[in-house]
Amino acid sequence: TVVSARESNVAKIKVVVRKRPLNKKEISRKEEDIIDVHNSQFLTVHEPKLKVDLTAYVEKHEFCFDAVLDEHVTNDEVYRETVEPIIPIIFQRTKATCFAYGQTGSGKTYTMQPLPLRAAHDMVRLLHQPMYRSQNFKLWLSYFEIYGGKLFDLLSERRQLLMREDGRKQVCIVGLQEFEVSDVQIVKEYIEKGNAARSTGTTGANEESSRSHAILQLAVKKHLPITDTRRQRDRDAAEAKNTKLVGKMSFIDLAGSERGADTTDNDKQTRIEGAEINKSLLALKECIRALDNDQIHIPFRGSKLTEVLRDSFVGNSRTVMISCISPSSGSCEHTLNTLRYADRVK
Ligand code: ADP
Ligand code: MG
Repeated sequence: TVVSARESNVAKIKVVVRKRPLNKKEISRKEEDIIDVHNSQFLTVHEPKLKVDLTAYVEKHEFCFDAVLDEHVTNDEVYRETVEPIIPIIFQRTKATCFAYGQTGSGKTYTMQPLPLRAAHDMVRLLHQPMYRSQNFKLWLSYFEIYGGKLFDLLSERRQLLMREDGRKQVCIVGLQEFEVSDVQIVKEYIEKGNAARSTGTTGANEESSRSHAILQLAVKKHLPITDTRRQRDRDAAEAKNTKLVGKMSFIDLAGSERGADTTDNDKQTRIEGAEINKSLLALKECIRALDNDQIHIPFRGSKLTEVLRDSFVGNSRTVMISCISPSSGSCEHTLNTLRYADRVK
């Protein structure tokens, strides 16, 4: 059945919290699980505190979100709760974005990694439906990273990319490579290639990638018929010109939220990166709130991240924020920060 995107009952903005299990390190340090998930929408944080006379007590913080997923929820269930409902309306001219937000180690990458693959699987299936096949719809993939305010193509040797705004205020990333993907196995290969190209620096993979935003996009395009040309080269050029974007799904593994606080670090580079991350996460929150209030003016210009996402936020859009949290008492402060951020977004 065909539902138009405007009529679809998929919420414009959805905020989901995912709690991961305690890990071995946290258990060995005797840290406790301080997150109580009551039902599918409510959770309580039991914050350990000390009085001035050093007696211990617990301060409770209650939160409510569109969905709260506890440590037993599988990645499949996460997909069903977040991205799956959006897929059909991508074919109905919708641009959607799914973010993973949270401190480093909270489960962002674990949560985000399988989503594009499952989405591609469902999208490829839809492409084969007679209605879309007859319109010559095809699926395209791109994967890039924002690091220190600069853009790098993860599928083309980390080539630096520039952004340009055309006369119609459309943002275009100059030189970003896009690949047509007709089956899930190819999607898998591109994702692995892109992952291997993510910032790793010298201090270890997670350390550096926690300072970058990784953006994977699956775009549905309509290929218009091309009038016959003799040479293949002309054909290719004509084909590239003759595609029209139908809808797009972006998956964003955000920089570790605690990195935004690296603004007083001794290392200058770290300070610059921290300031950029702080700016982008604040700008993101402002944009989502503006969208939610149907504001005409959306403050895209606040950061590279929001500028890049501009075309995904205007018009018919959907946003899913997955806030990842650690259950451990040792992460309490970061967890409360993440939940407060999510609370202000919704
Ligand atoms: P982040 O990307 O936020 O820095 P990761 O996704 O790398 O965090 O997760 C940190 C560690 O915790 C990884 O070893 C990951 O496999 C594990 N982990 C995260 N979420 C879960 C989960 N829901 N269930 C089991 N293990 C998880
Ligand atoms: Mg990560």
